[in-house]
Amino acid sequence: MDMDIKVIEQMIEQALKELKNEQPKAFAPAPVEHYGVFKTMDEAISASEKAQKELLFSKIQQRQKYVDAIRAAVLKKENLELISRLAVEETEIGCYEHKLIKNRLAAEKTPGTEDLATEAVTGDHGLTLVEYCPFGVIGAITPTTNPTETIINNSISMIAGGNTVVFSPHPRAKKVSQMLVKMLNKALLEAGAPENLITMVEEPSIENTNHMIENPKVRLLVATGGPSIVKKVLSSGKKAIGAGAGNPPVVVDSTADIEKAAADIIAGCSFDNNVPCIAEKEVFAVDSICDYLIHCMKLNGAFEITDQSLTQKLVALVTTEKGGPKTSFVGKSAKYILNQLGISVDDSIRVIITEVPKDHLLVQEELMMPILPIVRVDDVDTAIEYAHEAEHGNRHTAMMHSRDVEKLSKMAKIMETTIFVKNAPSYAGIGVGGEGHTTFTIAGPTGEGLTSARSFCRKRKCVMTDAFSIR
Ligand code: NAD
Repeated sequence: MDMDIKVIEQMIEQALKELKNEQPKAFAPAPVEHYGVFKTMDEAISASEKAQKELLFSKIQQRQKYVDAIRAAVLKKENLELISRLAVEETEIGCYEHKLIKNRLAAEKTPGTEDLATEAVTGDHGLTLVEYCPFGVIGAITPTTNPTETIINNSISMIAGGNTVVFSPHPRAKKVSQMLVKMLNKALLEAGAPENLITMVEEPSIENTNHMIENPKVRLLVATGGPSIVKKVLSSGKKAIGAGAGNPPVVVDSTADIEKAAADIIAGCSFDNNVPCIAEKEVFAVDSICDYLIHCMKLNGAFEITDQSLTQKLVALVTTEKGGPKTSFVGKSAKYILNQLGISVDDSIRVIITEVPKDHLLVQEELMMPILPIVRVDDVDTAIEYAHEAEHGNRHTAMMHSRDVEKLSKMAKIMETTIFVKNAPSYAGIGVGGEGHTTFTIAGPTGEGLTSARSFCRKRKCVMTDAFSIR
């Protein structure tokens, strides 16, 4: 009897709270302080495995609700600003305004469950379905250059596919990754999702990534980063998706709209201070239009270095003895780099350009800073040949500015890149001002290309004989 009175009292208390528009305690999500961030990698993986077992039995509609919850959490103005600002502050890479665009893009244009189209075959022997099914727990390694964008993009795709994900971020993006993982898990819990759909370890490190790669509970590895980590996951003995380095070339021929080409190239090259793996990294321009192209680039915020000894000083400043980029210059602005060379410019300067021969280090190395070498060539066929060489078989991204359909087709065919952009800035290839969905994991080496939910799924067949064909 006492119990009944207590229950009635609680009900009255709740009803009164509801009348006052307060959220009754019993309906609030349970306080889970770690929100997906665990002390050890094993704990993060075990929690992920438990969550995936629950997710497996959720309805597609529920998964879509979780995807929508991730989108809404990221698109909340204060959250979007917070993660974009923190990413720049912590990594010291890129530009806040462009991180806002990229994070928004990842939240808005990553496909959800609609990406998982079922194939059906019917005939005299009945019905066969081929469906995209989850792998289970995915281990995803993320780069410093797109730390939050990759977590948002991968989380949406992987959860839409029915997977859970354990992230191994770059140690230099630890804080912002933790904040985002917590933010997303909180939003997911509020949307009724199982705990820990997204997890990570408190202290990301190479050792922890190695633990993740070795843990048998992790069924699929996805590496977004440079050659070393891609090679590592591909030699793990597990199914792995590798989204590796690029060195995107641009070809400009004599038929191009040179003024537009110059504006597009500078816009793409300076986007997030040139860190996107798709961003313009070197230009091959036909001699007859090269001077005018450079002139137009200067009208669009390019600073030209003509003195070769200054170009040498620039190279010595921003590269290591081995010839790779100095980490301290990756993702820095053109103004900052010029300042270190003793040249002061205003904020209108977005890119440093300099004419060099095709074998120059600035052309051949992926530097990820707004320095754009220009190689003058005799004709468009030579430009295409040199562009192909400079891309080093990454088959990642390339751009061409031309109105010659035949040459555009020739370059697209020869380059074999996952993304080929015609007459636009590189970022049109990931959905900024271009059609199509976005991705921040462009898997050239393993062939998934522009990854989305289906890339992180297994195709499974379900057969029903002698029925359900209604033709
Ligand atoms: P990075 O290779 O230094 O690091 C990427 C991730 O791999 C980080 O989490 C890092 O901690 C980890 N890692 C690297 N080497 C490792 C090793 N030996 N063992 C274990 N973990 C290791 O790259 P970055 O500087 O963070 O990112 C830039 C690179 O990523 C560029 O080469 C860029 O082209 C590439 N990238 C590719 C894509 C794509 O979609 N293809 C997207 C973004 C970046």
